[in-house]
Amino acid sequence: MSDYHLHLHPHVGLGEESDPPQGVYPTGHIEAYVESAAARGVTELGFTEHLYRCVEAASVLGRFWEHPDTPDDVAALSQAMVEADLTLSLDDYVETVVRAKDAGLPVKLGLEVDFFPETIDAVGELLEPYPWDYLIGSVHWIGGWAIDASHSVFEFERRGIETAWDQYFALETQLAESGVVDVLAHVDVIKKYGLRPDTDPEDWYRQVVDAAAASGTAVEVSSQGLRNPAKEVYPAPDFLRMFRESDVPITLASDAHRSSEAAWGHDEVVRAARAAGYDTHLRFDTRRSTLVPLPVVDS
Ligand SMILES: [Zn+2]
Ligand SMILES: [Zn+2]
Repeated sequence: MSDYHLHLHPHVGLGEESDPPQGVYPTGHIEAYVESAAARGVTELGFTEHLYRCVEAASVLGRFWEHPDTPDDVAALSQAMVEADLTLSLDDYVETVVRAKDAGLPVKLGLEVDFFPETIDAVGELLEPYPWDYLIGSVHWIGGWAIDASHSVFEFERRGIETAWDQYFALETQLAESGVVDVLAHVDVIKKYGLRPDTDPEDWYRQVVDAAAASGTAVEVSSQGLRNPAKEVYPAPDFLRMFRESDVPITLASDAHRSSEAAWGHDEVVRAARAAGYDTHLRFDTRRSTLVPLPVVDS
């Protein structure tokens, strides 16, 4: 069993005493993730650092928070967050994970790619030279609004929850259509704060599922939603069942940002996948996938 969504540093401001300084990869750092995951029965780890946190990406992504549809106060909060979080190097990150692989640790090299329709092609070119095992793609931004950041939750009320969901799923569908990434990460993270529209979400779900099936993009099943106010795995049970019915394969994910959280909630993730009808999940190697059996967990 694997955990294919892991970060090697917490976001700036969310660190704990035991975390290494930003951008530093001390000896034993990756081993700590391997040990923590192994204690939860997970034996293969895929690291997926945030692209937008890497200095090499800054010029390619540009000042994306200055989007014409983004209010100035929201843009200012996004700018402050992005600039504070710009503490990592893509080259250092890749080198660290590749070195761990070469040393025989059971790890894979991935990346969490933020989706912006305007720059996704340029991002693809930036990432081309690196030896990725897989890429995951995330909609964290509607224009310049950081939809999963607690500092900007007020924007849901201002633009309306239904409008926010509509805009979010339009972007998620575009990402799924693009085929630029191998896996859709936290595919309904728009529910993170438990703010849900009265509307039945099936039409939004359908667009994403059809796009993923057409482009051959997988979807991750993530325990992160259980740690958020949504208190529900990403994707929601109905959404995951629709992916299953369209034969879209899955990966398993915790979205941990420190070693102690590696593979957190994996039994719940496997239960959710099995409840939707899955009995396999994907592993990746140099962007080629193979299906492997899901473990059996007590229901
Ligand atoms: Zn994310
Ligand atoms: Zn993540």
